[in-house]
Amino acid sequence: MYDFSRCKLCATNAASPTYKLKKTTVYACAACGFHFIDHLDTMPSGTSGDASPALDQKAWDYIEGKLPANGNQLRQNLLLVKRHLSLSGTHCLDIGAGAGLFAHLLAEAGASVHGIEPQGVFREFAQRKFGIELNGETIDARHWQEGFAGYFDLVTLWDVLEHVNFPAETLRNAYNVTKPGGWLFLDTPRRDALFYRIGEWSYRASGGTNPLFLESLYSPLPFRHKQMFTLRQLLQLVETIGFSVVRVHSSPFRPQNKIVLVCRKP
Ligand SMILES: [Zn+2]
Repeated sequence: MYDFSRCKLCATNAASPTYKLKKTTVYACAACGFHFIDHLDTMPSGTSGDASPALDQKAWDYIEGKLPANGNQLRQNLLLVKRHLSLSGTHCLDIGAGAGLFAHLLAEAGASVHGIEPQGVFREFAQRKFGIELNGETIDARHWQEGFAGYFDLVTLWDVLEHVNFPAETLRNAYNVTKPGGWLFLDTPRRDALFYRIGEWSYRASGGTNPLFLESLYSPLPFRHKQMFTLRQLLQLVETIGFSVVRVHSSPFRPQNKIVLVCRKP
């Protein structure tokens, strides 16, 4: 059982319950300012014994219905990647591959692609829709850390860091499987955004009864949002791990605000 007074970012015992939402509580760290909720996912055990629900017609229609919107974003992400490297012949790893669309786009661009997706229902979709075999073992598994150490030219984490149990560990593991000179691309919601600050202000002003947007930004359900970074926290983390930051895209004012980072392993 994890002690949530221990900060998931700086590992000091300086975190305390700060925003009590309907279904979860946001802890804030007094030492580094990190925000995270009091919930961790129980990870399914790799490709076998996965207790995920089956991919029935309803699940298929749901996932397929979301593809166009997700596809637009992922095509933008692909353009960003292509601005920095030529994909043909590269080894790529998409962590948190979901329905497999980005892995599919990478393969179309001539890359040799691996993908990680812990939810069996998405892996099955990716297999049937795109013919892509995603792996259910998460990036901390020996399969990746020993079998693919320093291997990938490109590692992507699209909308992953806010979902995983321990984002610093995920980034460290991503670093380990990246080749020297290889690239890491990621995006994640930005906490030091105007709408989040308004939510914090409203929570305090209402004595905790009206957290506004904070309520919808976090969830204790499996694979939902567990933490959000400020731009400064995330930059500091990737640099501490060893990446060089090549490019940052972010604006604190748009509601659908994200941090997009382009990083390189020296
Ligand atoms: Zn901290």
